[in-house]
Amino acid sequence: MSKRDFYEVLGINRDASEDEIKKAYRKLAMKYHPDRNAGDAKAEEKFKEVKEAYEILSDAQKRTAYDQFGHAGVDPQAGMGGGFGGGGAFSDAFGGIFDEIFGGRRGGGGRSNIYRGADLRYNIEITLEQAAFGAETKIRIPTTVECESCHGSGAKPGTQPQTCPTCQGSGQVRLQQGFFSIQQTCPKCHGSGRVISDPCPTCHGSGRVKQHKTLAVKIPAGVDEGDRIRLSGEGEPGINGGPPGDLYVQISLKAHAVFQRDRNDLHCEMPISFATAALGGEIEIPTLDTVAKIKIPPETQSGKIFRLRGKGVKNVRGQSAGDLLCHVVVETPVRLTDRQKELLRELEESSRADSERHNPRAKSWMDRVRDFFSVN
Ligand SMILES: [Zn+2]
Ligand SMILES: [Zn+2]
Repeated sequence: MSKRDFYEVLGINRDASEDEIKKAYRKLAMKYHPDRNAGDAKAEEKFKEVKEAYEILSDAQKRTAYDQFGHAGVDPQAGMGGGFGGGGAFSDAFGGIFDEIFGGRRGGGGRSNIYRGADLRYNIEITLEQAAFGAETKIRIPTTVECESCHGSGAKPGTQPQTCPTCQGSGQVRLQQGFFSIQQTCPKCHGSGRVISDPCPTCHGSGRVKQHKTLAVKIPAGVDEGDRIRLSGEGEPGINGGPPGDLYVQISLKAHAVFQRDRNDLHCEMPISFATAALGGEIEIPTLDTVAKIKIPPETQSGKIFRLRGKGVKNVRGQSAGDLLCHVVVETPVRLTDRQKELLRELEESSRADSERHNPRAKSWMDRVRDFFSVN
């Protein structure tokens, strides 16, 4: 029977943190624990499987070996062939597998403990126009570069890093545990294989100094609040020759004076005069890149929405564009002259005779109020 993938067994992703592995293990171990499942052979089998997966994935070195070689990398039975023969053969064969595993990991550099650099996030605030039409911008981010004084060696100029006396430069030490010989990261040099007795004063022995770098960022048309743009390889540098992480540029939008964005749609408020609302007319409204005309029909009420198709924001993942929705607000006139007030009173007088006809909304509202009181 072929073994299940350890990550699958624990129900976690391949990039799960130590914490996530521990949590997943605890949950499953509780569920399948023999004390809770007396006589259930299936649960016992599951319990063993979970335990084995945890033993491998909770150990950083075994996990690396598993990631690289699968079950063969961590199963002492795999790849050993007939090696069980006599006395010393066992530990030799075992050690042989480990050498192969860590040899592969070390690459040509003679180093171990290779890590990918961390991902970084950079927040950027852009205007609605930049988001809608795309833009190119530059960002300045902190980074670390090779120290110029020591050319990255970390040793004081004129001196050299020494081969680590504890591990003889391999970065690994071998521990004997009963039958097994286990490799561990060298505690003196932390896997680099070298020690620096006289550190470089510029970088304090790290071989790297902090600096700023400027990156060009291309913002695609249609991005929205919360979208992220990935700049591959622009994160933190890797450790011991590992690949760098990625940089994620996270978008947020500045508030716009006229438009509010809702995904690909734009909304705006459109104040119109009382007379225009009553008599109708044509008004100009701005769109993101031009001006559009809207015909206001007579008797337009406040709150009416006019939709201009395709005048919103283009979808970042497609060709379709959203709409522009104009919300009509009928404006109450202010700072009227005596003459204007007189005209309004005249209008009011003249429509009072047949109020219901001229104010259908007020009429229907009054009807509803009357119904409400008669029921209660
Ligand atoms: Zn230096
Ligand atoms: Zn060492």
